[in-house]
Amino acid sequence: MASTPPPPADRPPQRHRLEPAALPGAASVHPHLARSALEGAAVGLAGGVPVGFLLTYQGMLSGPGAGAVPAWLLYLGYILTAGAVIGLVVGRRPRGLAAAAAGGVLVGLLGWLVWSLTVEPVLAGQVPTWSIDAAARTYRELVADLLHGGLTAVLLSGLLAVRADWSRSVWDDVTPRPPRVLIVGGGFAGVGAAQRFERHASRPGSPDVTLISESNFLLFTPMLAEAASGALEPAHISAPVRAAAGHTRFRQGTVTEVDTDARTVRLLTGIDEQIVGYDQLVLAVGSVPRFLGLPGVEDNAFTLKSLGDATRLRNHVLTTLERADRMAPGEERSWLLTFVVAGGGFAGTEIVAELFDLVHGVSHFYPGIAATEPRFVLVHSGARILPELSAELGDYALSRLTARGIEFRLGVRVAGADAGEVSLTSGEQIQTRTFVWTAGNRPSPLVERIGGEHARGGALTTDGTLRAVGLDGVWAVGDCAHIPDPDNDGAAYPPTAQHALRQGKVVADNVTAVLAGRTPTPFRFSTIGVLVALGHHSAAAEIRGRRFSGLTAWVLWRGIYLAKLPGAEKRVRVLLDWLLDLAFPRDIVITDPTPTAGAPRPEPGPRAR
Ligand SMILES: Cc1cc2nc3c(=O)[nH]c(=O)nc-3n(C[C@H](O)[C@H](O)[C@H](O)COP(=O)(O)OP(=O)(O)OC[C@H]3O[C@@H](n4cnc5c(N)ncnc54)[C@H](O)[C@@H]3O)c2cc1C
Repeated sequence: MASTPPPPADRPPQRHRLEPAALPGAASVHPHLARSALEGAAVGLAGGVPVGFLLTYQGMLSGPGAGAVPAWLLYLGYILTAGAVIGLVVGRRPRGLAAAAAGGVLVGLLGWLVWSLTVEPVLAGQVPTWSIDAAARTYRELVADLLHGGLTAVLLSGLLAVRADWSRSVWDDVTPRPPRVLIVGGGFAGVGAAQRFERHASRPGSPDVTLISESNFLLFTPMLAEAASGALEPAHISAPVRAAAGHTRFRQGTVTEVDTDARTVRLLTGIDEQIVGYDQLVLAVGSVPRFLGLPGVEDNAFTLKSLGDATRLRNHVLTTLERADRMAPGEERSWLLTFVVAGGGFAGTEIVAELFDLVHGVSHFYPGIAATEPRFVLVHSGARILPELSAELGDYALSRLTARGIEFRLGVRVAGADAGEVSLTSGEQIQTRTFVWTAGNRPSPLVERIGGEHARGGALTTDGTLRAVGLDGVWAVGDCAHIPDPDNDGAAYPPTAQHALRQGKVVADNVTAVLAGRTPTPFRFSTIGVLVALGHHSAAAEIRGRRFSGLTAWVLWRGIYLAKLPGAEKRVRVLLDWLLDLAFPRDIVITDPTPTAGAPRPEPGPRAR
């Protein structure tokens, strides 16, 4: 079948005009909420019929009810209200039948608490007691409400799925195909966008969304340093895209080229090469390490951007301990026990603290290594570490880490590196077998190969609504984009997960708006807070202008990031990892039997001079 040529940029396909909420000037949120509530109320009424028969059979609907209100009228009010709530909870995002049923049963439970134990006594002129007696008296209402909630949610979820399929097939027959939205990148920004598109999915006229990403999971980078130190199982800090955005078409592969004229991308799947068309493209490809052209750094440094990086680094550190333990004291042994990190931002500070905890936490397994032997050095070009934090908290972090024995070289840059040495601009040379580079990032190479306007670091410049400047139908979000912050003289928003996630949501709203002929809204967000873990059960945090440090900040760090981790299953797994880490020493299993396989540096050995 010949493919329909893509519609001109941003022109709404015909059928979008039929969507009431898409009318220009119509408020974008409230009509959808109202519609979800109305649909829920209607299905709640349907779900109330079989439950009503049961109650009638029990003689519960023929009685006087509460006060002057007859029982059947109370029941009618309940099933409509509970249905509306279920519509808001379940109907706004497609989900599986089991998840929908669980949500509905929960609404039933809340409904019983609110309706049977609170509203009905008030209508009858009594004071609600929420006592065991009252609960026991209304147990049949509880069963009915749970049944009604579960049944209504399952019915609603099923109907929404059927409607989405039906609407697609009907519209496909009578109108042009739905506009194709392609998201490239399955990180915070890409998955955030896909989840938001799913919210719009049950509406007629919603676009056909595909997400392509190299990795099939969203990596929760704030916990990456802990994965590298063995405090957390690496797989536990990653959420599969197929689970996080279960109703979005997912394809694993690497996009190597974008043709913005033909509106296609070239996709390498590992099996073949494909050309994938789009009408609107959302680039969310993140960033990669930037080595600033420094001699030997790229070849000899470990990086910390991916799960593979974290695992490689952990295996390497444990390997150096195994070797140092059986090596006679001397130069090579001290090089093996020297760990150098470049970059005093979040990633560098967290990884030097975590490496310190790892090495000291497992030291009892290596009796040949004295506690004073391992050496940790952090090299940072600025005058103080953690410039993202206030000077007070930055100084706090510095003093905590210095007190632990970590050395700092501030106001100094790395000049180069080889297999056994890191050279600094101060002229100092540090012999080491472990050099971690966190001192620079640049946008993913794909972005550099695209036209449009690029900022100094290479990121794709967007306007305030996240549209790539100079490229029709292309949007960019997250670390690969240079998005002007109107509250900061147009300087770019910082490359953080919290910004990327929100940009993903806004880009989905804006693409949907543009396809429906509405005006996109500018992205505006101010940082909620910053948190940095410092190891040893301490952290530093600034949240909404309030500063925290030490154990309080550490508890906040763990609580906040645990809550933000995508998916209940991963949260439980990470929580268990943390509990086990409190009770047991870190695991020293080297998961890759070839010690330096995959690591950038060659096998340690006597260093050639
Ligand atoms: C160690 C570390 C700690 C951090 N700690 C914090 C923190 O505590 N708080 C915070 O807010 N931020 C933190 N960050 C920053 C945060 O991780 C990033 O800002 C965020 O991940 C950016 O999201 P993104 O979606 O733009 O990119 P990413 O999350 O990097 O996702 C990019 C995605 O695109 C895919 N991709 C790339 N190129 C292609 C291609 N050509 N084809 C297909 N797919 C492609 C990748 O596989 C990946 O899935 C940390 C970063 C690191 C490295």
